[in-house]
Amino acid sequence: MPDLSHFIHGEHVRGTSGRFREVFNPVLGEVSSHVPLATGSEVAQAVDSAERAFTEWSALNPQRRGRILLKWVDLIQTHRDELAETLSNEHGKTFDDAKGDIQRGVEVVEFGAGAPHLLKGEFSQDVATGVDVHSLRQPLGVVAGITPFNFPAMIPLWKAGVALAAGNTFVLKPSERDPSVPMRLAELALEAGMPPGTLNVINGDKEAVDALIADPRVKAIGFVGSTPIAQSLYAAAAAQGKRAQCFGGAKNHMVIMPDADLDQAADALIGSGYGSAGERCMAISVAVPVGEATAEALREKLVERIGALTVGPSLEPGSDFGPVVGADAKKRIEDYIGIGVEEGAELVTDGRGVEVEGYPDGFWVGATLFDRVTPDMRIYREEIFGPVLTIVRAADYEEALRLPTEHEYGNGVAIFTRDGDTARDFTARVEVGMVGINIPIPVPIAYYTFGGWKGSGFGDLNQHGTDGLKFYTKTKTVSTRWPSGTKEGASFVMPEGS
Ligand code: NAD
Repeated sequence: MPDLSHFIHGEHVRGTSGRFREVFNPVLGEVSSHVPLATGSEVAQAVDSAERAFTEWSALNPQRRGRILLKWVDLIQTHRDELAETLSNEHGKTFDDAKGDIQRGVEVVEFGAGAPHLLKGEFSQDVATGVDVHSLRQPLGVVAGITPFNFPAMIPLWKAGVALAAGNTFVLKPSERDPSVPMRLAELALEAGMPPGTLNVINGDKEAVDALIADPRVKAIGFVGSTPIAQSLYAAAAAQGKRAQCFGGAKNHMVIMPDADLDQAADALIGSGYGSAGERCMAISVAVPVGEATAEALREKLVERIGALTVGPSLEPGSDFGPVVGADAKKRIEDYIGIGVEEGAELVTDGRGVEVEGYPDGFWVGATLFDRVTPDMRIYREEIFGPVLTIVRAADYEEALRLPTEHEYGNGVAIFTRDGDTARDFTARVEVGMVGINIPIPVPIAYYTFGGWKGSGFGDLNQHGTDGLKFYTKTKTVSTRWPSGTKEGASFVMPEGS
């Protein structure tokens, strides 16, 4: 059974804590490796290395850094199938979905290669007689990313891609459930020409995260994971005077208006509800059909499609979705299905007890559908993070709009309609950070920004896009007057702008 390592200053470094966590292949339900869990002093070693690398990396002009980032993109693409296979084997998502995980991360690195343009400051001439003002965007120094299991390529690349482009050096603490792809990405960064220490990977759990937060040399924390941890790390980082953006859980709704194309809506619900076994922060977990007739017709179409779904091994082309990530996740999801039944929701299809031939120990959960779910139920209020779709029937549009607006989470939301006026009204009034109109998973493209509202995101700047660059740089504003303006001697009053 291989022991994984940390990746510090361009080298694999064995864990010294004596603490390990098992990494599973969820299809087989077997341990595939052990990942070391770092101590505070190992974290300090990774930060030391990143601090040393900062001098060289931040001094490279942004265009040169951009070229290295593009080389990194090239190498990731060359190794895409190998990375996707590793990703599927540790996470459980299908091979094609794993390639998508990599691709959506790579796009942010490509965006980061445009940093020479994006890092340009502002300039104003003659703000007062003989005085010019300009602003600079400078890197913060060493920054850290703490990432979740469900996108082991995309989210580390979202964070590191932009942070590195801006001239920071990066310490990544990936999920201990699937650390191999993040490690491989760091190896490829070194091969692309990033100086050793520019991108370090430290494996670990709470102890490593606490050490990153406590270390004064770490200037920013980018976190993605569950809401309670996002919220507590946001507070802890702020208490240390660090900037932080901490993204949390979700409960994404899709409103289906009576005029929607119901086949299109049902297909979208199946893909976004059950794809990746529902382990996506932008998965749709609540369908809100408007009106009884819409609800009945939609339910029929969903049941028909669920019957045709194949849950199976991640690397087999016929599988629509694979297993969930671990035995604990399987238990949590199955417990929630039990809770839904106890709460009085109607269990239309039950994913418990699904078996996949040849893989008796895999962490399988089948497509589950609940109807007649109400807002007071735990299966509506809480994030299940599995292949469980709930139908909450709304009598009219206003009731449908209120559901995502009043929900604790506010990551993504969708509306399916043929009416532009309804879509515009929904877009303007819904209290959710990312909206899809006839698009079920509205994950913004790399040059826009990604971020949820309310319990789905803590901090005021989103991930990637121009917000990402702002998050990973600090602004310096320079007011300049050249000697001709000083000939008049000292001035004791505040200069007026005009
Ligand atoms: P998680 O919160 O368990 O873990 C996320 C990271 O935090 C991991 O690196 C983990 O090692 C670390 N961590 C765990 N416990 C910690 C603790 N007590 N103190 C400090 N660090 C700790 O999340 P997960 O199960 O890996 O990922 C799934 C969650 O992430 C879901 O809630 C999902 O909605 C959310 N998510 C959100 C987004 C988003 O952009 N909003 C994107 C993807 C996933």
